[in-house]
Amino acid sequence: MKRRCVFTAMLMFLLLVAPSVVRAEKVKVRVFSTTNITQAKITFETMPYNLIGDGYDVLATDLTKGDFVDITPFANEVEVSVNGQKKGSFESVAFITEVQDAYLYITPKGAKQRSYKDDMHVSTQSNKFLKMVNHVEFESYVAGVAQSEIYGKEVDIFRVQAIISRTWAMRNMEKHKADGYNFCDNVHCQAYYNRCIRSEIEQATKESMNEVLVDNNGNLIETPFHSNSGGQTANSEDVWQAKIAYLRSVQDTFSFGMKQTYWTKEFATDKWLNYFAKNHKLDINNDSIRNELVNFEQDERKSKLMGVPLKTIRKDWNLKSTFFSVVYYGDKVVLEGKGYGHGVGLSQEGAIRMVRLGMDYKDILEHYYTDAQVVKLGAEEEESSYSDTEENDAAYLVYAEEIQKAMGNDIAYVKEETLSTNGSKKNENNSEMVKVETPKVKDEDVDRAKRSSSLAERMMKTKEGLDKTTEDNEDSEEYEDEEEWTYVW
Ligand SMILES: [Zn+2]
Repeated sequence: MKRRCVFTAMLMFLLLVAPSVVRAEKVKVRVFSTTNITQAKITFETMPYNLIGDGYDVLATDLTKGDFVDITPFANEVEVSVNGQKKGSFESVAFITEVQDAYLYITPKGAKQRSYKDDMHVSTQSNKFLKMVNHVEFESYVAGVAQSEIYGKEVDIFRVQAIISRTWAMRNMEKHKADGYNFCDNVHCQAYYNRCIRSEIEQATKESMNEVLVDNNGNLIETPFHSNSGGQTANSEDVWQAKIAYLRSVQDTFSFGMKQTYWTKEFATDKWLNYFAKNHKLDINNDSIRNELVNFEQDERKSKLMGVPLKTIRKDWNLKSTFFSVVYYGDKVVLEGKGYGHGVGLSQEGAIRMVRLGMDYKDILEHYYTDAQVVKLGAEEEESSYSDTEENDAAYLVYAEEIQKAMGNDIAYVKEETLSTNGSKKNENNSEMVKVETPKVKDEDVDRAKRSSSLAERMMKTKEGLDKTTEDNEDSEEYEDEEEWTYVW
């Protein structure tokens, strides 16, 4: 009963947005988000682009190799010229292509050239800088992120990165909702500094398509990562506020012997001690306090030094990590540190070494994210990790939640409490998902709808895959309306 109602709602959802499911889903990524660009030149390869002003004005067609477009901010508009000919000024212009995997080049004044796939929309920021938003196919974005975020040659290094970047992106689609796009291109979201140009990374992204990390309840997890753990990862609550079950400190000898395993930094002893006296009111004339401050040791990760959070010390002294010991040399102290980054979640260099040792990418991810597992959205029976009905319900409902999130307020469902994402409180009463508002797909929502409906399709496929694993356990009532189901599939 519960499933049938949920699926009725999902069927209606799919029917309403189906006309917009034309191309692969796209996300909007603000590029050059940390650069103030006052002028840019756009150039092309052999794949043609059209240039559209304010959404309807065709300024140029079939722009290819040899053509160039100059754009400068002009009050709250952008002024555009094509091959040296002025075309006027517009609130926004868009470089649109119908060719799959087409890309263009952006050369901003005073910044390095970059290249991006798919469409590029340009408007102004603060009336004096250019704002560029790449409307790019989701998996191309994931590949571009994998290329920007990790180094190496082996395909599985990028497969690991692609899975955590994909999971993060799917979970954080609304990070920049208020700004009118999904993600920025720097580490606030995920680095995305160019289209992917390396075949091994494209291969890694393609092979890991639809693979994401979920927790015990089937929820997509947050996937923080850092350069190197120094031999032990950190608990989430030691770095941030929340204690998260899958972000536990684990021993990580894989991070030894890499570029960022060790660091040292030295300071004048007086300066070091005075900092604790002034900023943290510690009595540095007290011998035992003084002794601890200059001889602090961390064989295992700690979270505080004399009550001062190590994360605060790290920030104030600009240290590579909180995993350091202090060695006293009279008038100076040397901080002998391990690792680089906050230490929570996956150690990239640890993962690189594990790949080089021949370890499986799933084992690598599951080493760093405690009790999390890699699942493939839309997986067939043998690929599903779920084995009992409650878990299946939980995973399925998570994807329903994701769709709702992606669709914002266009669809609102009233759910009984028993349909919570953890799915653990199974209720014998009728749990129904009731549609209370008709979705209206507006022009400006088309991209969002494409993305969401593709997510919906994946969810449906996942549900299908999960159902196959438990068909024997189902009671017939849940399948009473088979025609409707057949129609969806
Ligand atoms: Zn961001």
